Amino acid sequence: MELQQLLIVDDEKNNRALLTELFKNQYKIYLAKHGHMALELARKYKPDVILLDVLMPELDGYETLKALKEQEETRHIPVIFITALDRHTDEEKGLLLGAVDYISKPFMPAIVRARVTNHMQIMRQRRLLESHARVDALTELPNRRYLEERLQASYPEVEEISLAIMDVDRFKQYNDHYGHAAGDRVLQQVAKVLGGSLLRETDFIARYGGEEFVAILPHTDRPGALLIADGLRRAVEALGIEHDDSTSGVVTISIGGITVKPVAGRLPGATLEQADAQLYRSKQAGRNRVTWG
Ligand code: GH3
Ligand code: MG
Ligand code: MG
Repeated sequence: MELQQLLIVDDEKNNRALLTELFKNQYKIYLAKHGHMALELARKYKPDVILLDVLMPELDGYETLKALKEQEETRHIPVIFITALDRHTDEEKGLLLGAVDYISKPFMPAIVRARVTNHMQIMRQRRLLESHARVDALTELPNRRYLEERLQASYPEVEEISLAIMDVDRFKQYNDHYGHAAGDRVLQQVAKVLGGSLLRETDFIARYGGEEFVAILPHTDRPGALLIADGLRRAVEALGIEHDDSTSGVVTISIGGITVKPVAGRLPGATLEQADAQLYRSKQAGRNRVTWG
């Protein structure tokens, strides 16, 4: 598992050294001498936890925390204050500003360690949940939500992009004939072969819903995309999964696709619908084929 990251912010060298010593074997450590540096490192590395001193020249801990909370990229990072200020009102102020914890100096190393560990664990679970929210449970491919995130993200450097929608042919009949559990296994096999067939790092394939999948192929022109799409179609056919109610006797997919040039770094909104219209034509023309707009 990847090492979690801890940002330590303290203007005193001794404190930075002490805290580093305490955590250097467990986490990747970043050190900041003052608030401005802390903000910069937090934006750049998105640490899992920040240990933040309160009394610092210029930007103090409270101001630094406020600035962290004002930025979308750093808002969710848990901040633990570690400070010589030990009045209840100081603690209250820190917690009200959104710190998750408050430790008084001089600190007990074991307590600091325990509190940091707790927040690291919460962060690990949160990241895990976030990754699950993007994955389809049956096929383990990216899900529709993740696909839409990808589609909405601009592709500023992409001049041309191809999209394909794939749909399993006569899948209702497959379920009726072989049962829903067998249908589930077909979707898993199809997903695996589709996911494994894309070559480029930037290619992306998701389960769009039911028995439909969508592929995003950046930097891919029409002839290239047609080739890839037909490769996907043949790969599924080559699985040779028996399907008595389909024309070819095995499970097949139909594909509809489109190639577009993003305008001002954005994809036109209707692109997926256009690909879907092509899919409809593939179905009309007899299934197990590719149609491109
Ligand atoms: P066409 O060739 O025109 O695409 O016909 P089709 O039967 O594949 O299309 P239709 O949209 O009528 O049926 C889709 C079927 O996919 C119906 C639904 O029960 C099945 N399906 C959707 N999601 C799942 C799933 O997660 N597991 C299983 N086993 N079946 C599913
Ligand atoms: Mg369908
Ligand atoms: Mg279908």
